[in-house]
This record gives sequence, C-alpha cells and structure tokens, in this order.
Amino acid sequence: MAEIIPETPEATPPSGDGRHITFTDVVEFMEAAGVSGPCPYCGNPKWELLVGDNENDVRKTPTIPTVVQGKEQSGISASTHFPVILAICNRCAYTRLHSRKKISNWVRDGKPELPRDE
Ligand SMILES: [Zn+2]
Repeated sequence: MAEIIPETPEATPPSGDGRHITFTDVVEFMEAAGVSGPCPYCGNPKWELLVGDNENDVRKTPTIPTVVQGKEQSGISASTHFPVILAICNRCAYTRLHSRKKISNWVRDGKPELPRDE
C-alpha cells in the first residue's frame, strides 16, 4: 500500500458534518475505493494530499473553476468552483483530483462500503 504524506495534519478540523473532513478520512476513502496504490507513471509509493479546510470556502480548499453555460462569472465563490482533493506524487509530481463532496458525503454517511457499479 502506498504511503501518503499529510500536508498539515494538525490544522485539519474534525470530521463528521459532511464538510469538514480530515486527512485520515481521505486516506480511508482511498483505501476503501482501492486507489491508494503507487503512482501509475513513476511507481513511487508516496503521495502528498491537499485536503483543504472547508469546501464551502474557496479560500480554504483547492477548487477548479466551473462555467455555467450562458452566464458570465464574476468573482470567486463556492457556486462557481468545484472543491477537490489533490493527490500529488512525491517523486514525479503527477497530480490527480478527487471530488471533495463525494468524499465528504461518504464520511457523512458513515463510511459505507464502495461497491463497483455493474
Ligand atoms: Zn510519480
């Protein structure tokens, strides 16, 4: 199993309300989903995780901008940005994204098994 390096483990607020998730929550999600293996490009087993503090505050959580068709975006807000978890390979810097909302919903729902869609 891959080793994952916390960004700032002490700074992460407690989990449980569906928005505040911990580094450990994300590691448990990745293990439950079977995606905690080594980097697919360089094979390095160590990842850095950027989790962020609050998915409703774009200043505190990594996001990617979204575009609502036909509407011009002004400013940065939770409605124009999609919160993500970044997993960055500690060796080659390959970066992958996971939906933070999917993971926080999984935590809120009591960390159920993650069956594959058949
Ligand atoms: Zn790599």
